[in-house]
Amino acid sequence: MTDQEIFDYLFKRAKTSKDQEGVVAACLVKNGQILVSSPSADDSIRHAEDLVIEKAKKQGIILDENIILYTTLEPCSVRNKDISGCVSIIVTTGIKNIIYATNDPEYSQDTKQRFLTAGVNYQQIQNKEIIDRAVKLFNSTSKTPLTAWQLPRQKKLEIFKLRPLPEIKKGLNATGKYNQKFINSVIKGLKESKAYNRH
Ligand SMILES: [Zn+2]
Repeated sequence: MTDQEIFDYLFKRAKTSKDQEGVVAACLVKNGQILVSSPSADDSIRHAEDLVIEKAKKQGIILDENIILYTTLEPCSVRNKDISGCVSIIVTTGIKNIIYATNDPEYSQDTKQRFLTAGVNYQQIQNKEIIDRAVKLFNSTSKTPLTAWQLPRQKKLEIFKLRPLPEIKKGLNATGKYNQKFINSVIKGLKESKAYNRH
């Protein structure tokens, strides 16, 4: 399956959830095939990444560097005192590859740094259409503000936060997709930046 097909599947899967904090879906992929998938729980308490890892363990799936975790929203680094964030859950497995669709400015405060520190290859899908669909799906199902649920959210996700606007415009080709040359230049810039090399 291609990344596009995997995310198409995840969006369908996410829509089966009644999660009022915004629906999310995650799956584990090996050799291009989805092994196991899950939407976020209807009661919002368990997240899609958490549930998909639990399912995989029950099925005896080995979580190693051959597995890619795909998720429609980047994993949370912050929850409440009684529930582990998804980053903490993921880094205790052997998963070393993650591809996510949309950023979460409110609940992924140190997600990227923690994955980099743990040696996880953590990447946002480089496809504007997929990212926009993920944002719209989440926002259309997220009730704000939430005070009685596990993750009170103050605002909706923002459309396309991949890079600051001037740089996005520079890299987009006529069809609105990134060109490979631009993606390579962003990756090169990241690798050379202080933030990337801090750990
Ligand atoms: Zn989470």
